Amino acid sequence: MRSETWQAVALLRSAARPERRHLVLGVCWLILAAGLEVLGPLLGKALIDNYLLPRHLDWPRMVALVLGSLLSGWAASLLRYLQLLRLAGLAMRSVRRLREQVYGHVLRLPMAFFDKAITGQLVSRVTNDTEAVKTLYIQVLFVMLDSSIVIVGTMIAMAFLDWHLMLIVSALFPVVIAIVWFYQRWSAPAVSRARELRSEINAQVAESIGGMTVLQASNATLRFNARFGQTNEAHYHARLGELRANAWLLRPALDMLNIMLLAAVIYSFGAHPVGAVEAGILYAFVSYIGRVIDPLIQITLQFSQLQQSVISTARVNKLLQEAGPETNLLDARITQGAVAIRHLSFGYAATQPVLHDLSLNVPAGSFYGIVGHTGSGKSTLLSLLLRFYHAQSGSIEIDGIPLASIGDTAFRASVGLVPQDPFLLAATARENIDMGRGLTQTEIEAAARAAKAHGFICALEQGYDTPLGEGGARLSTGQKQLIAIARALAGKPRILFLDEATSHIDSETEQVVQTALAELRGQVTIIAIAHRLSTIRDADRIIVLNHGRIAESGSHDSLMEIPAGIYQRLYMLQQLSE
Ligand code: ATP
Ligand code: MG
Repeated sequence: MRSETWQAVALLRSAARPERRHLVLGVCWLILAAGLEVLGPLLGKALIDNYLLPRHLDWPRMVALVLGSLLSGWAASLLRYLQLLRLAGLAMRSVRRLREQVYGHVLRLPMAFFDKAITGQLVSRVTNDTEAVKTLYIQVLFVMLDSSIVIVGTMIAMAFLDWHLMLIVSALFPVVIAIVWFYQRWSAPAVSRARELRSEINAQVAESIGGMTVLQASNATLRFNARFGQTNEAHYHARLGELRANAWLLRPALDMLNIMLLAAVIYSFGAHPVGAVEAGILYAFVSYIGRVIDPLIQITLQFSQLQQSVISTARVNKLLQEAGPETNLLDARITQGAVAIRHLSFGYAATQPVLHDLSLNVPAGSFYGIVGHTGSGKSTLLSLLLRFYHAQSGSIEIDGIPLASIGDTAFRASVGLVPQDPFLLAATARENIDMGRGLTQTEIEAAARAAKAHGFICALEQGYDTPLGEGGARLSTGQKQLIAIARALAGKPRILFLDEATSHIDSETEQVVQTALAELRGQVTIIAIAHRLSTIRDADRIIVLNHGRIAESGSHDSLMEIPAGIYQRLYMLQQLSE
């Protein structure tokens, strides 16, 4: 908890930095508001003791006291309202800034981070946990600070009026704190259960939408509906339990206490000989007691909220501390696209190597194919070439420049990737090809034509402006691959990586894509992974990976001549099955 508190404080401080002026002003006005609130009963007491009881009817002064008492209360409310607005605005701006910062940070985190990350948790860091900062500002700064100032001010005023009575009132503090503490202990299980059940509800909805085809096809909708109903009902009961604790314990018990305290104060007045002077004090005390209990409850109630928020804020801070990539502003760029790999070894975990001592030269403008069994390390090799991971040993150079020395922007602008799972945004066909690069319609169309996607895009009802649905739900898998190819080509890369880009395309379209790749020959270095060997049959060189090592390498014809070679066997098997 301690280190978390410091993390939360560190984050709050950095979030509040641009708002320092608002913060200081807000707190100052809050102190003033509390002072005004304490002042009201004092004025009332002066009215009673100095004018009403001695029958000393000085009307102008009496009217001034009444007005002063009313005005101070009114001004306190107004000030408090304005400060709540100010602090809430500040809190919301901080949340907005923080959320952008966190999202921006997540976008730049290295791939290795996402191998272990859990999507739901990351989403909650960016959306919910950032909100905790708002809670901290409003709950801690506003409610707790305001309440503390009111309590301290009231106690000082009471001590000033009659310190004996003030001591009687103080006796109430531990009792109120005990009641609220007990209440929270009682309601905490219901609160946390309600929270758990709510995320369970979220998870169930998300899961069933994601797997809707399977759900409907396997006739599981009724079962899911029933399961959802159960969770939902459990959530209802948990919430009800929370309310029950509140209704039974909190208000009635505390109101009871209030009444007992009033009785004690009045009794202690009765026990002493009451001078006419003291009636005003009684009035002031009765007003103060009403005002001191609520802040006390508020402060105590905020503690568990405070704990939650501190934990959330600390989690956000921890995510922000997660090491991002070193930003690479070097100006070396890719001009030719020649790739040289030397003695490359890599494993996702250092103890489990995936690639072993790999060496390979890909001349600029050539077409290399990579084949191999599932899990042999083909996609891993691409990930290294794309700088998603760093190799444990060995080196990769492009145009003779070490990979790490090429500037980020220049690097991303010169390589294109068609990944193994085509990823489409819930956006139009045009936006999916453009990907925010600001390409012209001519460039987008040229890329789509080269990828043989132009035809089917034009056949969509709004052509390039047709929304493709979430993850490209409106397209066939092969069509998604063609869009992904168009997207990669639209960037006019010097090096193009294709990871199983043709696995879901029919043979006829595949041939068209093959022609498209052939047209790029000589201008763009192409490294293509393919299970379907026809895609890379014409490659300048085919590399056969086996358990992370290069087992065979050469043109199609030369590989076919290796007796009992891996490539030969793969090729024969495919020919047979077709
Ligand atoms: P496929 O033809 O099925 O796509 P591949 O040759 O592309 O296979 P890779 O994805 O490179 O295979 O995986 C090589 C090995 O690395 C596999 O054993 C896999 O379990 C492991 N691996 C892949 N990605 C990760 C990851 N993100 N974290 C840990 N291990 C991984
Ligand atoms: Mg792969």
